[in-house]
Amino acid sequence: MRMHFLRIYPKVVMGTRPLKLYAWCLKPFTKFLMCGLFSETTDKVPEFEDLQFEAKSSKDSAWYDVALFLAHRKTSLGEVEVRVRFIGYGAEEDEWVNVRKAVRQQSIPLESSECRSIVKGDLVLCFKESNDEALHFDAHVVDVQRKQHDIRGCRCLFHVEYDHDQSQEMVNLKRISRRPRYL
Ligand SMILES: [Zn+2]
Repeated sequence: MRMHFLRIYPKVVMGTRPLKLYAWCLKPFTKFLMCGLFSETTDKVPEFEDLQFEAKSSKDSAWYDVALFLAHRKTSLGEVEVRVRFIGYGAEEDEWVNVRKAVRQQSIPLESSECRSIVKGDLVLCFKESNDEALHFDAHVVDVQRKQHDIRGCRCLFHVEYDHDQSQEMVNLKRISRRPRYL
């Protein structure tokens, strides 16, 4: 979508009434540039003490926010594991998780203006609701149906496929968090 706009833009400006057309065609771009390009700039690297983590439970493959790191150990394969306390859960739910595969910086909820930063193929953390549970799972964006935003914000629909069970569904932006992006 971004390339599409950028390709058409010079042709319009080069037209017979460049100034008028320029102003006319720039208007939609302002909003587009603001929400499309600028929001894709990389995130500021947080100070270490500001870092917040999420960890993947081996019980259900869902990601939970980490309250505490309680201990660490090395497996016989030389991999480091940490024992985590999940936010909102007690000691009975503590788990040993692999640092490399199952601990990462917390995913970031999206504002409506950032919706264009989510594109086909992206890894996102998606809130999945079923009859007996509502959990956050890794999912990949299969397709995006862009809709006109209104007073309620983003109305776009995101077709996602969950990594852990390959199930698919259409979700709105509120159910998606993105991964931090750094240079
Ligand atoms: Zn949107």
